[in-house]
Amino acid sequence: MEEQRTCPNLKCGSRLFHNKGISAKNGKPYENWKCAKCGFIEWVDLNPKTGKSTPLPTEIEVDMAKRVESKIDVVNKNVLDVKDQLEKLNQYLRGSGA
Ligand SMILES: [Zn+2]
Repeated sequence: MEEQRTCPNLKCGSRLFHNKGISAKNGKPYENWKCAKCGFIEWVDLNPKTGKSTPLPTEIEVDMAKRVESKIDVVNKNVLDVKDQLEKLNQYLRGSGA
């Protein structure tokens, strides 16, 4: 009998559907649990060494997510800097005005 799971989204709580197959993109097997109601999806990490499925996210993925977040912060700061520069340039252009 297949494992039954419900959506962790408290406002939803519908049944999750178990999907298994081979990716058409990279030819690798995939497995996930998906909620048809709210769109929640949990990917299962298919470890070829143990043949066991471990739930996501792994520690490495959490670490990567944190690093990506910190990079986004840097990009956001740069965008603000550019906006600031642009504002100064506009003020200068208006000041030197025609
Ligand atoms: Zn749901």
